[in-house]
Amino acid sequence: MRVLGIETSCDETGVAIYDTSLTGGQGLLADALYSQIAMHTDYGGVVPELASRDHTRKLLPLIEQVLDDAGLQRHDLDGIAYTAGPGLVGALMVGASTAHGMARGLGIPVLGVHHMEGHLLAPMLEDDAPDFPFVALLVSGGHTQLVNVQGLGHYQLLGESVDDAAGEAFDKAAKMLGLAYPGGPHVAALAEQGDPERFRFPRPMTDRPGLDFSFSGLKTHTLTAIRQLEAAGELNEQARADVARAFEEAVVDTLVIKCRRALDQTGLKRLVVAGGVSANHRLRERLAQACEKRRAKAYYPRGRFCTDNGAMIAYVGAQRLAAGEQDASGIMQATPRWPLADLAAPAAP
Ligand code: ATP
Ligand code: FE
Ligand code: MG
Repeated sequence: MRVLGIETSCDETGVAIYDTSLTGGQGLLADALYSQIAMHTDYGGVVPELASRDHTRKLLPLIEQVLDDAGLQRHDLDGIAYTAGPGLVGALMVGASTAHGMARGLGIPVLGVHHMEGHLLAPMLEDDAPDFPFVALLVSGGHTQLVNVQGLGHYQLLGESVDDAAGEAFDKAAKMLGLAYPGGPHVAALAEQGDPERFRFPRPMTDRPGLDFSFSGLKTHTLTAIRQLEAAGELNEQARADVARAFEEAVVDTLVIKCRRALDQTGLKRLVVAGGVSANHRLRERLAQACEKRRAKAYYPRGRFCTDNGAMIAYVGAQRLAAGEQDASGIMQATPRWPLADLAAPAAP
């Protein structure tokens, strides 16, 4: 089954084609991405109305492009999957309506899928894909969650952030340090020049049991540190790097502590890490150590599939469409808030 996947939940237009007659990464026939980051950078964050308009401009040309790249015609498609949520409602509606219109025209099934299920299963596109069950750490711009994954659609939430997501914290810290949006990669680059011994930021919620996270306090801590340096006339380039390093260490250490706990608590030996923050090198380094100690193994998507992309949506949609799932006729979905644990496995045909 050849499935076109469409991602428009936020600020990247992603399109891909996945073929279920092939396995893992082999099944990915083509993928293309248009990032709106340059447009939103001027505003310091995503402007929802501009995001929707830009998806409208870019989506159809990208669909033509992936069909071309895969050497396929529209009528070679057997199904269409789109991101139905969570995300910005206007942005979601661009993907949902395009998918439904195309599917109706072609007379093929269409399915709205969960964006975070896409992130969660993105490592399945790699040659070294994990088997079920595994613990997943989802760390993105909008989510920080630990999930016990027993199979497709079997997701038990173990813990999540009670306030800001880790990626959001990176973005806010970046703003305070005068760095561009999205801040994660810029903070990480600046942190490399920083002295890890100069400042020590707290590791929120690690002093008590449980797998929840909180990152909003770290934001305040970062701001206080910057203001004190500024007041003392010491906010030079090295000081900014030292703050970035302390911030990154605190976020990474907190994530690692909770991952260790989740592995120990579940007894599972596989850890999937996905979402934009999973691209962070320091996090990967530290998780590798933690996994080695437990004879566990960490799995990641390739770099460009850590952040939003169409490939993960085509993959998840293909698994579910192939199992017989589809949207009710003419009912398109755009669900801004949608808990991952509400998902179910595809019903047996
Ligand atoms: P969600 O998936 O929760 O709806 P999103 O789609 O906006 O949110 P992603 O596109 O998966 O999130 O990831 C973007 C986030 O990842 C941003 O917050 C960005 O700062 C962060 N990020 C990207 N690269 C890095 C990095 N190397 N280190 C830390 N954070 C990073
Ligand atoms: Fe995302
Ligand atoms: Mg994004």
